[in-house]
Amino acid sequence: MKTVAEWHQQAQTLAVNGQAFINGSYCSAASGKTFDCVDPASGRVLAHVAACDAADVDRTVRFARAAFESGVWSRMSPAERGRRLVRFADLIDRHSEELALLESLDVGKPIRDSLAVDIPLAAKAIRWYGEAIDKVYGEIAPTDSSTMALIKREPIGVVAAVVPWNFPLLMAAWKIGPVLAAGNSIIVKPAEQSPLTALRVAALASEAGIPDGVFNVLPGYGETAGQALGRHPDVDAVTFTGSTEVGKLFLRYAGDSNMKRVSLECGGKSPNIVFKDAPDLDTAATAAAWGIFYNQGEVCNAGSRLLVQREIHDEFVERVLQVARTIKVGDPLDPSTEMGPIVDRSQLERVLSYIEAGKAEGAQLRVGGERLAGLQGNFVQPTVFDTVSNTMCIAQEEIFGPVLSVIQFDTTADAIALANETQYGLAAGVWTRDINNAFHVSNALKAGVVWVNCFDKGDMSVPFGGVKQSGFGRDKSLHALEKYTDLKSTWVHLSSVD
Ligand code: NAD
Repeated sequence: MKTVAEWHQQAQTLAVNGQAFINGSYCSAASGKTFDCVDPASGRVLAHVAACDAADVDRTVRFARAAFESGVWSRMSPAERGRRLVRFADLIDRHSEELALLESLDVGKPIRDSLAVDIPLAAKAIRWYGEAIDKVYGEIAPTDSSTMALIKREPIGVVAAVVPWNFPLLMAAWKIGPVLAAGNSIIVKPAEQSPLTALRVAALASEAGIPDGVFNVLPGYGETAGQALGRHPDVDAVTFTGSTEVGKLFLRYAGDSNMKRVSLECGGKSPNIVFKDAPDLDTAATAAAWGIFYNQGEVCNAGSRLLVQREIHDEFVERVLQVARTIKVGDPLDPSTEMGPIVDRSQLERVLSYIEAGKAEGAQLRVGGERLAGLQGNFVQPTVFDTVSNTMCIAQEEIFGPVLSVIQFDTTADAIALANETQYGLAAGVWTRDINNAFHVSNALKAGVVWVNCFDKGDMSVPFGGVKQSGFGRDKSLHALEKYTDLKSTWVHLSSVD
């Protein structure tokens, strides 16, 4: 592992390209406009990024459509598409240091996480679909013997992937893998806070043999580039990860335009429920702390509501506080840093305003609650509020920062009711030694993902996504292919043969 000085030295000489990637080449926005991409740790401008708008969207959709209709990718054998996706994943792995550095500079993520988590998992996601796609079969329906009815999956066409800034390349890769494996063309719209890695890997996609027009990256603002993709009459599907508020806009855009398919991975306010018979309180407390403080709390499935059974409350919260107090916050390029800065100034202000709201509502601030003294940049201390009531705004609204709300409960029924009293339903944790309790609670939780005696586990073979206003549709696993394919039923009448 490089030292902090070596990472900074590499950062000084790193080539950062802010141009869009359209039809196989890097180019400026048609308007010539750019926006600044800023390092949240230092305030340094990293790149002037193409501010794409409706004109660029229109041009890119035309290229993506032409590539799709030409069959250069959509009718390539799944085995060959798969080989090229695996090559693409290998290239991402080969450039992992450069990509990890770009990610850390762009969003303030600790380099140890970019290097060990974001970039390798992004490569893994693309490789997984590359390896899987030539093993996916169609069906023959059990119709009567005078007919043969074939059910096959066909690519949809042009898919727009609109993604957030918290895991920029990884969230994009969860879309890129299945979208491309299924034979579609893709237009990735990274968040304006975090365009750099998606732009960089576009060249790697080309190098891996993904044809021009099939893989495009359009940086730009949500209200311009994002909206233009959502409303475009020739975009067949939007796969979105981001806030619930913007997810709802995409439903509206689809309704106002061509009824394109929309799948939404949105926000969360996930409960992490610790019963008094949790198998190991230290493990549970460490998982509870990292369940909210990992990635600065900028995690959709963060366990931001910690529900603790009254009998163990004092002891358990003390253990969580101990972990929170020892987290090392600082320079993202220092390999020993565990928490970096908040992604940008407006998100920092949002987090701080929730901390003020928590104090004003009467929650007890046990640790943190301030910006970090002595550091420039958007650093916030790991923050824990105790004696939170589930109706407070810090328990109901997604803060998307390192702020934990601790809520006490008495019975299993209370825990389930509190856990489900939220507009969200992304994920939940349950800590108990009693297998009956574990299944009873996990069955009763309205969440797309439940972790029992663990938190934040993931694997490419397991679907990820939410219910209620956390969205619908699933990333990861073979189920993700359902979002990017349509079923075609072909009936063949069989005449009798003499
Ligand atoms: P966001 O909704 O503000 O932005 C997401 C994307 O939508 C960005 O690319 C943005 O440019 C675009 N966008 C913004 N306004 C738009 C508009 N008016 N029209 C069209 N597009 C628009 O979200 P964010 O702040 O980037 O990310 C944080 C959110 O993402 C949180 O709510 C978090 O929970 C969610 N998230 C969910 C998951 C999941 O898998 N469920 C994963 C990661 C993040």
